Amino acid sequence: MSFSRRAFLGGGLAAPVTLRAGQVLTGAGLALPLAATRARAEPKAHSFQLGETEIIVLSDGGLSLPASTLAANVPDAERAAFLEANGHDPVTRASALNITLIRRGDALVLVDTGAGMNFFETAGQLADSFKEAGIDREAVTHVALTHAHPDHVWGIIDDFDESERFPNAAYLIGSAEWDFWMDPGFVANNPEALHSFALGAQRNLGAVAEKTERVGADHAVVPGVTMIATPGHTPGHMSVLVEDGGEQLLVLGDALTHPSVSFAKPDWQPSTDQQPEIAAATRRQLLDRAATDGLMLIGYHLPWPGVGRAEAKDGAWRYVPAS
Ligand SMILES: [Zn+2]
Repeated sequence: MSFSRRAFLGGGLAAPVTLRAGQVLTGAGLALPLAATRARAEPKAHSFQLGETEIIVLSDGGLSLPASTLAANVPDAERAAFLEANGHDPVTRASALNITLIRRGDALVLVDTGAGMNFFETAGQLADSFKEAGIDREAVTHVALTHAHPDHVWGIIDDFDESERFPNAAYLIGSAEWDFWMDPGFVANNPEALHSFALGAQRNLGAVAEKTERVGADHAVVPGVTMIATPGHTPGHMSVLVEDGGEQLLVLGDALTHPSVSFAKPDWQPSTDQQPEIAAATRRQLLDRAATDGLMLIGYHLPWPGVGRAEAKDGAWRYVPAS
């Protein structure tokens, strides 16, 4: 079977690709009913300087998943007790969608594009947050994609009129990530639960294929903005390192996703990680580097605006929000 746009529109737009209020997506890619849904979020923008570089975090809204997705390899009671002890809802995991924009000289680098309008009713706010920040989407020069899950790439095209949301941008993505999702044999080679993800990835990435560069580890987007390999959440997941004025900021993507679990329990395996053991090794490596070198971090799913640092604590780590 080929993933033509026609097949996608004809066969899958209503379900299971599209999630509406009252549904959540499990790590396995299945839509499940969710008792409580959150109200649509307000557009938000948060900016600060890293040396001469301006960092702007824009909200794409938020989404909710069952808390069970935080740790597939841990008994329910243990996970629930840990979450409650750390001030979290033990049943539902609310995730922010924090999208980083980096202004450096003439370059305006966007890291991921948000979920668009077809994934969660509470997501798809990025265009409004651009307006809130007073920034024109046409001014984006580069889009660096951490990975091709729906909440990161389904915002590449506007489904209403099929236009590109960032028409003047060059795109960059890890070559391993591109190869995994764009594989013409995806359906035959991968579990059914991932098929709707692949349809959406192929539709969105396919629309910008000619302007997309597939990159390897340590690839400079512009001087001082480097894509680094942080695999495991997906096979070709990458993060973006920004260096200026002697300071370093790491835009994590989904290498660390929860303010307590990802830091204090790096070996717990979220069901949203496609390669759980590789993801855990990546987490430990990143956390060690972040704590040792005092890296500033931005987490896509950490509580808004997702800016903070990691501190060593009790043989693991702790998240310290910037403010
Ligand atoms: Zn994500």
